[in-house]
Amino acid sequence: MSKKETMQFETEIQQLLDLIIHSLYSHKEIFLRELISNASDAMDKLKFKSQTDQAILGDDAELKIRIETDEKERTITIFDNGIGMTHDELIDNLGTIAKSGTKGFVEALSAKDKSDSSMDLIGQFGVGFYSSFMVAERVVLTSRAAESDSAWRWESKGDGSYTIEECEQVERGTKVTLYLHAASENEDQDYTKEWVVRSTVKKYSDFVTYPIEMDIERQETPKDDEGKPIEGAEPIKKIETEILNSMKPLWNKRKSEVEDNEYKEFYKHLAHDWTDPLDIIHLNAEGILEYNALMFIPGQAPFDLFTPENKSGMQLYVRNIFIMDNCEELLPVYLRFVKGVVDSADISLNVSREILQQDRIVGKIKKNLVKKVLERLATMLEKERETYIKFWSVFGQVVKEGLHSDFENREAISDLLLCASTAGDELTTLQEYVDRMPADQKEIYYITGEDRDTLMASPHLEVFKDKGFEVLLLTDPVDEWVIQGLNEYKEKSLKSVVKGDVDLQSEDEKKDSEEQVKKVADEYSELIKYIKTSLGEEKVADVRISQRLTGSPVCLVAGEHDMSASMERILKAANQPVPPNKRVLEINANHELLLKMRELFSNKGESDLLKEFSELLYDQALLTEGSKVVSPETFCNRLTSLMIKAVSA
Ligand code: ADP
Repeated sequence: MSKKETMQFETEIQQLLDLIIHSLYSHKEIFLRELISNASDAMDKLKFKSQTDQAILGDDAELKIRIETDEKERTITIFDNGIGMTHDELIDNLGTIAKSGTKGFVEALSAKDKSDSSMDLIGQFGVGFYSSFMVAERVVLTSRAAESDSAWRWESKGDGSYTIEECEQVERGTKVTLYLHAASENEDQDYTKEWVVRSTVKKYSDFVTYPIEMDIERQETPKDDEGKPIEGAEPIKKIETEILNSMKPLWNKRKSEVEDNEYKEFYKHLAHDWTDPLDIIHLNAEGILEYNALMFIPGQAPFDLFTPENKSGMQLYVRNIFIMDNCEELLPVYLRFVKGVVDSADISLNVSREILQQDRIVGKIKKNLVKKVLERLATMLEKERETYIKFWSVFGQVVKEGLHSDFENREAISDLLLCASTAGDELTTLQEYVDRMPADQKEIYYITGEDRDTLMASPHLEVFKDKGFEVLLLTDPVDEWVIQGLNEYKEKSLKSVVKGDVDLQSEDEKKDSEEQVKKVADEYSELIKYIKTSLGEEKVADVRISQRLTGSPVCLVAGEHDMSASMERILKAANQPVPPNKRVLEINANHELLLKMRELFSNKGESDLLKEFSELLYDQALLTEGSKVVSPETFCNRLTSLMIKAVSA
């Protein structure tokens, strides 16, 4: 046997433990739900492995959870014959921050006010095991991993360190013993009492698909030969093993048989979330395709929503038997926030991931599930706008991925988009935008950038505002990419107001203004040539008279198919290479400054002053679109010298 090792918890883990021990007072009973959940996960893992390696189960194939209590010692023990943990897994899983869930928890915790939000966070990040320290002063865990000869004992008081040593344990699996705090006056929080354990299991873990057993002691009056109780005889103690949970999976019940609360508890078990789901979808499909599905739309994001490993929140069961987790064959990646379970009798028990991908039945189930989820989201948008806005703020970015990956449902997905717009403070759908479009508006206009206020002030919007044409203000970094996947909505193309020409005039207006346009172009042609050469080719692709500016003197415009400035900024921020991309400087021919510059140029020709003006206007255009000027120092020097000139004149 190896020596006992004493190890320190990583700082963040200890911070977490301190918080659990000192600050959390309500809902202490959830520790049991968390430990049972871990036990059930451990058995799922074993079961999954056993599909390809039957021998792993050995002669201990009946998977179950056992709970034992000892009133005198004040202990409660939860035992499972699941996958177990090796020495290194114990250290990794229970002692370090490497586990991303805990890490996310600690990060979120330092960002928030601890006292108020800690309970929410515990649920959100599923720091399950550590919740034992809410009720226990000491926790001892022993574990023997499947197919391993050695067992390990982990022990801690949650006070900075834990110990690990080799131990004896014949059975495969994990045994967690909590040495509970001294009994409080509150009997219903005494977890050494059978009835407290029973009701807590019933409340939080009834649907767990493995039996949760407990030995129950009964006092029985002795009976005579005829089976009648003998009066006055001393009662005898009888111990019977009882299964505390009904194990009937909720998804296989009829909708009418399930209480709202049961759904919610199941969701919390499944999603490691403390809060209620926003919506529950329960399907009992019958007919050609028979399956039951129970899906939940969460109200808050899990810590790993954007990690590459997170591909699906769905579990697959075949006739009540767990087959696999994270099953992206059941729902596509862009619906990975949906947590749920599908159970079908039409799928083989020995199914592998590869087979699933090609299975026609699974393909059809997936199609139906996607349709249902999208329909329910559409209903939420229509009937419960507030709830939907909450949903969208958390998961909108994920749903948008579907525009690129799910061509078949593109229209349904585009109906779910919510964006800010120049029409008001409320978010709008594309349909609502289209409904508001004046008859002479042909395209759906949008602009992308960091935030609403900057976009609202953008010179590119001027002519649209004057014309009363609404512009969508897209501020999510993925929007630029999303639009490429969408291109058009209800046969109206989406057009960026910062790219290409704008053509907002009717045919009649064009005819009327044709001569005027030509005249202005002639008047400005020399100045335009001058500005272009003076700025140089490396800065601008061209200089031209603007059709979009009505107030500001200048703006920069990308080519119709080029990258916008906002996209460039996103790429730069992500340290991605940005292809060389020169833009067009548009000038406002009616602006006082440009009129003066034109006059100056025709009177005196080229001058240092006009060169300075051109440079300053270019930098101004960069600043108003939210970009950085190349040299803030040069910009400031130019501005200062102009100010000096102005006051000395
Ligand atoms: P979570 O369950 O959210 O991952 P926990 O802190 O409860 O977080 O558990 C950490 C890890 O320890 C689990 O992910 C699992 O790998 C391991 N673990 C916990 N309990 C058991 C158990 N009974 N059997 C096997 N592994 C377990």
